[in-house]
This record gives sequence, structure tokens and C-alpha cells, in this order.
Amino acid sequence: MDPAKTDQQVRKIIHIDMDAFFASIEQRDFPEYRGKPLIVGGSARRGVVAAASYEARKYGIYSAMPTLTALHRYPDLIIVKPRFDVYKQVSGQIMQIFRSYTDLVEPLSLDEAYLDVTTNKYGMPSATLIAREIKDKIKEATMLTASAGVSVNKFLAKVASDMDKPDGLYVIKPEQAESFIGELPVSKFYGVGKVTAARMQKLGIHKGMDLKEKSKAELIKLFGKNGSFFHDICRGIDHRPVNPERIRKSFGKERTFENDLTSLEELNEVLRNISELVCRDLEKYGIRGKTLTVKVKYDDFKQITRCRTFPGFINNEELILNVSKEIMAVVFTPGSRIRLLGITLSNLEQAASIADSGDNKQLSFDF
Ligand SMILES: [Mg+2]
Repeated sequence: MDPAKTDQQVRKIIHIDMDAFFASIEQRDFPEYRGKPLIVGGSARRGVVAAASYEARKYGIYSAMPTLTALHRYPDLIIVKPRFDVYKQVSGQIMQIFRSYTDLVEPLSLDEAYLDVTTNKYGMPSATLIAREIKDKIKEATMLTASAGVSVNKFLAKVASDMDKPDGLYVIKPEQAESFIGELPVSKFYGVGKVTAARMQKLGIHKGMDLKEKSKAELIKLFGKNGSFFHDICRGIDHRPVNPERIRKSFGKERTFENDLTSLEELNEVLRNISELVCRDLEKYGIRGKTLTVKVKYDDFKQITRCRTFPGFINNEELILNVSKEIMAVVFTPGSRIRLLGITLSNLEQAASIADSGDNKQLSFDF
């Protein structure tokens, strides 16, 4: 692994992620939904899927997909409005379980967190055993299942939690890390979305081991600042600490396109989609903000951001969408090719109690 770290203690990191969180809560509370394709999300006309039950995923229905597309895939789909109060309450229960083992808990969202259990409140030597106990306690307290990944850093723990879903427990031991990543398809790398994965395939990069053959300079040239992150993670290197103090300062979403967008009409449609996702997060955490930023990246990777600050705090979707469209109308020039669009709300009214994953800042997620 990383030679610089060999003289230090190997860390024990757990990533816990609830299985189909919102959807599972709805199926728990409404027995008539159990075993059925269900989504939690916005209206059929313009909404997006916030969460899909495992039964819905069998039909190719996933989060961030327009509800309409989901309905095309399965017309009898049950569509449930989100009940964030309930999700937050359950989130509180699981976070409390995490903190009974360690204070080093870094939530990524309501249903996901990293835990550093290298030293823990019970003096337990086995992180695997802690993960199993946590899963059991979650089941007992909430009647819901979680998947856990156990490894030596955040990146590996996160990848591991996804390996055996639902109700999974997957361990990547220090000595397995390098060969594991070598065999891992790049599409499974956290931080590599569909678009980036497709680009990598074209470049002949299919697995971790292919990524490793590229120099840092090459990767930076190809993927911008993400390149150096890719360079490190394909070697199993990820020194990011589990940081319980990290406070989220903004809420934003961005979208990378498989094919560059060239018309204002298409761009506005994407803005609609992104504003809804941003507003859902704002609603989820009960947060409002004052500054709205629109980010545009062109096909040559040049990037511009434009922001507007409001006199008061806002979280209104219509307003966010309209102002984003106004900004877009000003920056748009016919003939330009746009590969990424993003909307962020910052200058928040209160410190969001939920930590920022940090990853969102350096990586552009395709969805
Ligand atoms: Mg989850």
C-alpha cells in the first residue's frame, strides 16, 4: 500500500449506508407497499426519483431519474411523497448508534456515514465485529437494514459497503486493498460517474489496474484536478480523515452530459431538474440560503460561475429555477458547447448539522 503510511497505525474505517433508505421506510410504515416497485419522489409530470425500492430497481428505476421515465419502465409504479420528518427521526436513531461506538462519525447524508473505529469506546479490536453489531442494532431499533463496508480508508470502506447490498457486510483487508482496486471496474469507483466512466473506457481504462498505468501528469491532463485523486485511489491511498466537525457550507448539484448541450431550451430543462434536486436537499435539512451560483463548464473544460445574492434567505424552487434561467440566458452564447451545469445555494441561514462529504467539492458527479 502506501509506503508513507507503513510506520503508522493502520486505520479501521467503516462506511454504513442504509438500504434504499426512504423507500424502505415507506415499506416499513405501509405494509401494502411491501414487495412492490415503489419510488419516493416528485410528481409524475416533472418530478425526479429521490429513492427507489429494490423491487423498482429491477425495472431499471434509479434515483435522480425523471419520474416520467420511471413510469414508462413500470406503469404500475407506486409514487410516494417524501416524509422528511420521519426520515430525519430515523436518521437520528442510527447516528446515535454510530456515536455509541466512536465520536469520529462523519455523516454524508441522512442515511450514510463514515466511522473511524481505530480506537473505539468499547476497546473492540475488530472493526468487522463492530460493523456487524451496528447492523444488528439498527435492525432492532428501526426494523431496517443497512450495508456496511470495512477497510483502511474512506474510499475503500465506501466501495466495500456497496459490494454486498442490501444487508451487506463487506471487508477489504489492508493486504487485499491493492489487488481489490486493481480488479475493480472504474464505474464502481466512488466519484466516477457514468460520463467519466464512459470516457475512461474509450481511453482503454477499464479497471483500477489500467488507471495505475497512467502517470499523475497524464491523469491531471485528462481529468483536471480529479486526476490526482484518481492517481491516489487506484493505489489505495486516501488519507482523508473521518471528520465529524466538517460543516456543510453549501448545497449544490451538478450534472455532466454525455453529449455536450448546445441549445438554451435543453439547458433550461436541465436547470429545472437540478433545481428540484437542490431544493429537495434544502427541504430535507430545513436549510435556506442567500447566494445562488450557477456553474457552466464548456467542452474545452473552461468554466465560469455566476452568482446572485438575495436580500433574504430563500429555498423556493420556482425562484431558484427562474433566477438560474435568467443567469443562463445572460451567459449563453449560441454555438457554445456545454458539458456541465451546476446550481449551488450558499451563504446559509444556519450551519447545516450534516457534514459535507468533502468529495462533492472536488469531484463532479454524474447522475
Ligand atoms: Mg443509502
